[in-house]
Amino acid sequence: MSNQSQTTREQTAEGEPTPGATGAIDIEDLTKVYDPEGERVVAVDDMDLHIGAEEFVALLGPSGCGKSTVMNCIAGYLEPTEGEVIVDGNRVSGPDPKRGVVFQDNRLFPWKTVQENVEFGPQMNDGVEAGRARNILDEMGLDGFEDAYPSGLSGGMQQRAELARLLANDPDIMLMDEPFSALDALTKEIMQKKLIEVWERDNRTVLFITHDVEEAILLADRVVVMTARPGQVKDVIDVDLDRPRDPEVVTTDRFTELRERALSVIREEAQRALEQEEGQA
Ligand code: ADP
Repeated sequence: MSNQSQTTREQTAEGEPTPGATGAIDIEDLTKVYDPEGERVVAVDDMDLHIGAEEFVALLGPSGCGKSTVMNCIAGYLEPTEGEVIVDGNRVSGPDPKRGVVFQDNRLFPWKTVQENVEFGPQMNDGVEAGRARNILDEMGLDGFEDAYPSGLSGGMQQRAELARLLANDPDIMLMDEPFSALDALTKEIMQKKLIEVWERDNRTVLFITHDVEEAILLADRVVVMTARPGQVKDVIDVDLDRPRDPEVVTTDRFTELRERALSVIREEAQRALEQEEGQA
């Protein structure tokens, strides 16, 4: 999508997707039960959520509430037990490079160089455009590291390479499961800025799982808070902070209000999750 459309979000009306935008996600009556015949774990129960094309949504919730399960159903790695995920009007029935996934622990091939890792995805599909991998690596600040192996890179650099690998497939949707949670504070801030840059420029849809409330509010258009397991939508918070947002926005009254609202919902659900665990012990 980025190749065809160089329209920036600033050129469109506030909150309006680009005409013809792709990447809308509809989660409809989604239920996921692990091991339905044995020790049933109802991870997600009858969840509904619409994510607009080009929207940036953060998914927050207590550990074990089903966030990754929802993401894996959108990615097509998991099949819903009931309900479905619809992307741009089509039911998700398996993985697709247009729905790229980034995990906390990167999935780079250790035996391939950084450039080979970035080229690998497009080669699997329509072939790689000459120079495209290098452009993406430059953009991610990895010029000079093309021939390095992942093990020779810092954690921050590895996540940059992971993001480059994802971007090489030119995904409409970026599914990100706690991608920056293992990074130190400064590296995390740099990566957040990079992510917002590529999101704003290329008009992609982002679903970003995090347990960090400030990160969710700093990055997202909407923060969706899930209940304790089985996961459902508990609260949806519209983040009405102007963009671009600099790190100092966290000191504003509005940011504090939004954070307190999210925290109070999460505290309640984290307490419920704890009681569930104690009940099982
Ligand atoms: P979160 O991402 O919010 O931490 P997950 O989606 O990873 O939550 O997990 C939701 C629940 O489903 C948890 O109780 C977890 O233990 C359980 N679960 C996840 N994957 C499996 C699996 N493959 N088999 C059985 N239970 C699972």
